[in-house]
Amino acid sequence: MFSILVVDDEPNNFDVIETFLANEKYQLHYASNGQDALQSLDIFKPDLIVLDVMMPGLDGIECCRRLKAMERWQSVPIIVVTALTTKADLVECISAGADDFISKPVNRMELTARVRSMLRIRQQYQQLEEFNNRLEAIVQQRTTQLRQMIFQDALTALPSRAGLLQMFEQRQEIKPLPWGLITLDCDQFKLVNGSFGHQVGDQLLRAIAQRLNRQLSPGQLLGRTGGDEFSILIENVDRDEQLEVLVARMLACFTAPFWVESCEIFITVSIGLAKTTRLNQDGEQLFQDADTAMYQAKLRGKSSYQIFDPQMHVAMLQRLTLENDLQLAFKQSDFTVYYQPILDLSSEKLAGFEALIRWRHPSRGLVSPAEFIPSMEMTGLIVSVGLWVLRQACEQLQQWHRRGWPELTMSVNLSVRQFASPTLLADVEQILAETGVNPAVLKLEITESAIMDNAEMAIALTQSLRSRGLQISIDDFGTGYSSLGYLHRFPVDALKIDRSFINAINPTSGVTNPPHQVVETIITLAQQLGLAVIAEGIETQAQLAWLQHLDCEFGQGYLFAKPLSAAEIEDQFLNPRLK
Ligand code: C2E
Ligand code: MG
Ligand code: MG
Repeated sequence: MFSILVVDDEPNNFDVIETFLANEKYQLHYASNGQDALQSLDIFKPDLIVLDVMMPGLDGIECCRRLKAMERWQSVPIIVVTALTTKADLVECISAGADDFISKPVNRMELTARVRSMLRIRQQYQQLEEFNNRLEAIVQQRTTQLRQMIFQDALTALPSRAGLLQMFEQRQEIKPLPWGLITLDCDQFKLVNGSFGHQVGDQLLRAIAQRLNRQLSPGQLLGRTGGDEFSILIENVDRDEQLEVLVARMLACFTAPFWVESCEIFITVSIGLAKTTRLNQDGEQLFQDADTAMYQAKLRGKSSYQIFDPQMHVAMLQRLTLENDLQLAFKQSDFTVYYQPILDLSSEKLAGFEALIRWRHPSRGLVSPAEFIPSMEMTGLIVSVGLWVLRQACEQLQQWHRRGWPELTMSVNLSVRQFASPTLLADVEQILAETGVNPAVLKLEITESAIMDNAEMAIALTQSLRSRGLQISIDDFGTGYSSLGYLHRFPVDALKIDRSFINAINPTSGVTNPPHQVVETIITLAQQLGLAVIAEGIETQAQLAWLQHLDCEFGQGYLFAKPLSAAEIEDQFLNPRLK
């Protein structure tokens, strides 16, 4: 029900108005002067004010002016009731803020009509205001959500990288301090997602966050700064040792496995450390330095840490130079392919080769692929270089077949990047067509990480390759994360047991040592799944004897031959006199 405040020094006038509006179901209130009216606003909360102009003390015009100056009440319409009718009088009322007038003596029809019209306006205004408030609340809520999304990680509720940076900057503004930053990146987290699924991956990240949080003291702030990356911002660090103590604690908290949805998961981290210096207090730079150090730690292998050193910028520059040199080498045909014999272990006869790339460096001589494949992988150059290797190897094999060795096979390595290349299938088909090689003698070697990056796609791709008659082997088998878990759903032809396991086999270690057991397990498993097994890196007679004893089908290693040039292979293995 609308509330109307009538302000008039004559109570009779109020009575008249009350009578005229009796049928309208308004709640009418009365004030006998301007002062009273202003004081009663909070009590009556009027939706409309009917105001007499001529009153002793605070007159109607002044009262109107004051009402319109009050933020809370300025939107309440005011009808001025006046006996004054000159234009000048009306102008004065309007400039004082009146919304409408009624002239005295008040007429019933006019009063009802004007009151109704003013109340309609009042109602529309209120609806608008309500809508506005709702809108503002939504905007405010969205802004808070947005800030949260930027400054807080939704999965762990920890600050994000931007959140940590913001805190760093806020604290630096209050009082500049020496800061340290520890950045931890999980090693091969992709494999966890690949083998257990993203849900388990997410839960594992939460569990890691909890474990790390427990290691912290006041003045140390944990954030999730990337997919599988966490950072700890630490106040008041001036010596590296302070950081190293904390790092030791961090590394120790990854020795025990994580249990997520009844899966036991071992995870390791690579850690980078950096500090602000007197010359460099920039937060972004601090994060970048810790990242650079972490990247170096990763290159050294799992569970290592590295303190940032400005020399690392030099290392970065060297990497860029290497990338340039590799581009140039490819253009200038400075790469060549070597071939390492693969033998049938039961007969010790030559079965085929693995093609291995070499870089004929103008000053360094032959450079091993271990030094440059990672860099090519990063820039993507591996895709074109890899295809070149495949073409070379196919042409070479075709020649050897023609010269009287039609049974020989050729294994060619495919990197993760090549395997993910959308044109791989078409490229392989084209090379086979152009060189005329029988697909059945070609074996493509892929690593577990190529599979784990995108298992569904990898399964489809290997099926397509195999349906064209090619064979697929898994290289460096045993070093990946869940080697055994995915095999039953992944269509491959052969497993290559990683060199590190074969290397650890020696007569003194006995058959109960772990590498022996791993090798034995892989061979048994492969036999059960109907897969061929190739042992890599056979260097001693004892290793060969043990593998033969286990019925391992194929092997390669320095015991038989190192990777050799095509000419050397022809000399040492394919010489017609020896055939
Ligand atoms: P991989 O495919 O596992 O190749 C086997 C590596 O083991 C070769 O190293 C080979 O020389 C080495 N090796 C073989 N037998 C023995 C042994 O008895 N003792 C020792 N200590 N080592 C042995 P290499 O040629 O340096 O190649 C290293 C890796 O580089 C390869 O590992 C492969 O992953 C990659 N690679 C080589 N060529 C290519 C290529 O054309 N494309 C791609 N994507 N990767 C390649
Ligand atoms: Mg290989
Ligand atoms: Mg290998």
